[in-house]
Amino acid sequence: MSSGRIVIVGAGLGGLRTAEELRRAGYEGGITLVGEETHLPYDRPPLSKNVVRGETDDVTLKPAEYYDEISVDLRLGVAATALDTAARTVTLADGASIDYDHLVIATGLTPRRIPGLPELDGVHVVRTLEDARKLREDLVPGRTALVVGAGFIGCEVAASMRARGLDVVLIEPQPTPLASVLGQQVGALVARLHTDEGVDVRTGVGLTALVGDGRVTGAVLADGSELAVDLVVVGIGSNPVTGWLDGSAVALAERTAGGGVLADETGRTSDPNVWVVGDVAAWRQSGGEQRRVEHWSSVGEQAKVLAHTLVVGAAPDAPAQVAYFWSDQYDVKIQALGEPSHTDTVHVVRDDGRKFLALYERDGRLAAVVGCGVAGQVMKLRAKVAGEVPIDEVLEAARV
Ligand SMILES: Cc1cc2nc3c(=O)[nH]c(=O)nc-3n(C[C@H](O)[C@H](O)[C@H](O)COP(=O)(O)OP(=O)(O)OC[C@H]3O[C@@H](n4cnc5c(N)ncnc54)[C@H](O)[C@@H]3O)c2cc1C
Repeated sequence: MSSGRIVIVGAGLGGLRTAEELRRAGYEGGITLVGEETHLPYDRPPLSKNVVRGETDDVTLKPAEYYDEISVDLRLGVAATALDTAARTVTLADGASIDYDHLVIATGLTPRRIPGLPELDGVHVVRTLEDARKLREDLVPGRTALVVGAGFIGCEVAASMRARGLDVVLIEPQPTPLASVLGQQVGALVARLHTDEGVDVRTGVGLTALVGDGRVTGAVLADGSELAVDLVVVGIGSNPVTGWLDGSAVALAERTAGGGVLADETGRTSDPNVWVVGDVAAWRQSGGEQRRVEHWSSVGEQAKVLAHTLVVGAAPDAPAQVAYFWSDQYDVKIQALGEPSHTDTVHVVRDDGRKFLALYERDGRLAAVVGCGVAGQVMKLRAKVAGEVPIDEVLEAARV
């Protein structure tokens, strides 16, 4: 397809990358990019790092002129509210409706809240630029912050708040931080990193109640302990933004399976004219299962495959990329190549206290690598992860 109108709903990284890749693949028709936020598409990874630390406020991915250059019609500050796949129209919150030949869903995630807690000032989540700015205003040195949830965002925010001179308590119901993503062995190394930086890490315990009159002043944990706190950051994961698709014919994944919009390995949904990309997308993976991946690099890779398939009729003829994600905490970068699973056998082949390297074994082969502060070593293992090399060979080489 080289003409017509493609409407992209969601003006974040996935929406922008899809527009760019459509042009790169030779599509010359109209592109409309609809975004609920008023900002130009911006980058989220700096929000929990540089933005909350007060080092930058500019996270815009491309300047306004760029969208003219690639002929993209931006409709910002207005949400899509409904989709009619039979009529091929999308309805916007201002009452307008846009016709499409193809629609791309790129609506990302919204942070989970803890049900039953009172609405109090000083309780934060971090997904949008406004969230990060609001949190930054609350980061007064000497204050005590409670971080609920030691996933990537919770760990990054804890590190950023230490850098801003706050006392930080990090609580996590699992036995270690990041246990469900990296497994407990590596999670314990991440816990040590935070403890060494002065964070009060409490695992195996969740939040029961928040205390305060207007503004949060305290928290009660599941083990009965009570804490005096000045602010709270809730980082307990996010849900895919699919509510606006209710009543449409587009098939969604079960909530219990992580939710999201179901798609094949090229991003095409149950409707042949509707596609999905990014955090909200439950693409078919090489193992056959359909699930979402919430990492920055996979968004660009998906956009490329989706756009090429939509325009040219077939996926690009390129080898699949090895999955990659990173997380900056303190002065170190945690990086993962491949898809570590908490069910893998983990071999920690380097541990210098702050820096470590772990190899993940699955069915006798190297499935993934996770390193902290050892970027060179991680990247050198890319081909071995791609080749699923027998673990003994990799361990042998690592010992030399
Ligand atoms: C704080 C933070 C830190 C991160 N750090 C890292 C990191 O270090 N490493 C890493 O690999 N990944 C990181 N990520 C993940 C990475 O940023 C995401 O994978 C990426 O942003 C996903 O892009 P997306 O376009 O799918 O979703 P988003 O970037 O969320 O964009 C979706 C957009 O759609 C809009 N939208 C939603 N509903 C509608 C609607 N109905 N109508 C119109 N617009 C709508 C939203 O307002 C939003 O602007 C981080 C994420 C966050 C939040």
